Amino acid sequence: MPKKIAVLAGDGIGPEIVAEAIKVLSFLNNDMNLGLVFENALIGGAAYDAFGTPLPQQTLNLCKNADAVLLGAVGGPKWEPLAHAVRPERGLLGIRSELNLFSNLRPAILYPQLVDASTLKPEVVSGLDVMIVRELTGGIYFGQPRGVHVAENGERVGINTKIYSESEIRRIAHSAFKIAQKRHKKLCSVDKANVLEVTELWRQVMTEVGRDYPDVELSHMYVDNAAMQLVRAPKQFDVIVTTNMFGDILSDIAAMLTGSIGMLPSASLDANAKGMYEPIHGSAPDIAGQGTANPLATILSVAMMLRYTFNETAAAERIEQAVNAALDGKVRTADIYSEGMTKVSTSGMGDAVLNALKG
Ligand code: NAD
Repeated sequence: MPKKIAVLAGDGIGPEIVAEAIKVLSFLNNDMNLGLVFENALIGGAAYDAFGTPLPQQTLNLCKNADAVLLGAVGGPKWEPLAHAVRPERGLLGIRSELNLFSNLRPAILYPQLVDASTLKPEVVSGLDVMIVRELTGGIYFGQPRGVHVAENGERVGINTKIYSESEIRRIAHSAFKIAQKRHKKLCSVDKANVLEVTELWRQVMTEVGRDYPDVELSHMYVDNAAMQLVRAPKQFDVIVTTNMFGDILSDIAAMLTGSIGMLPSASLDANAKGMYEPIHGSAPDIAGQGTANPLATILSVAMMLRYTFNETAAAERIEQAVNAALDGKVRTADIYSEGMTKVSTSGMGDAVLNALKG
């Protein structure tokens, strides 16, 4: 059975960076007989321009029938005046909820060649490789009741609700433990169990699920301490699992430890490891069309796809090693350029990875 990948290039630099990722993946597909087939569809502003909606039914159907989705990025100033319901970003939220992608994986990896890009001291961050698993479809971003109302005394009151059911915690726990099994087998669950009852339940369920994974070492940490530890000694972590809002904040801290937004991939998975893979950055309208964007985050997203959806670990490792080799060869796109390096275009970087693969 062919493995189907829906390719959604999106807006801004999306088409430029996705083209490089497909170039790399197509080579490996032939070289290793991976059996992958690709089909393109529109999303975001490009879909709005063609169909009047950021997530056309045919795009959603393609994604539902695919084994994995590769996304570039969506959005840009052209579509900012639009009503919220048809904004490009709605296309993304639509796919996440329609495909039930509740487990968001955001690795923060610092390549030794880019150690100077971080604002932290080299000895604190060099060799950093942390995976943050964020619950993506529950918690305070979705909980009811929510809103702002006027109380009886005439004062305005705002309310949001942090709510997790046992089954929601259980499924993200399984997802995180399985990821830890594929890495260094250390999982830190981050909560605020000393203050919030909802995360007291989170901690209990994490501990219960942990009994199914005796090979993984589980620890617990309060979120305030976790934020501090991430900038104090980030290398103590292997995999972190946490709630939607805590994960939102901690994953941005972790991303910045590496100092280079153009390098970081991400994955959002469902219960069967079907997933959407995308760089963490946006559509970068300020550099779109110039051929200067860094395609490595998208290329590394494809490596995550091979590892987590298709269980093709050897192919994933080949891509990661090729990225390392390209960086060793001193080629740099503008965002990670420093003196003494060779500045290359988006396709120049894609070619450097491809040549390393062919190596
Ligand atoms: P952005 O991530 O697009 O850009 C931030 C800065 O980083 C810009 O200076 C940009 O040039 C640079 N940058 C980003 N990716 C880069 C790359 N691969 N190579 C080199 N430089 C890169 O964030 P923004 O400017 O806040 O948002 C721009 C648009 O993207 C907005 O419409 C926003 O809504 C959208 N957005 C989309 C996603 C997504 O599709 N997942 C995520 C975030 C933002």
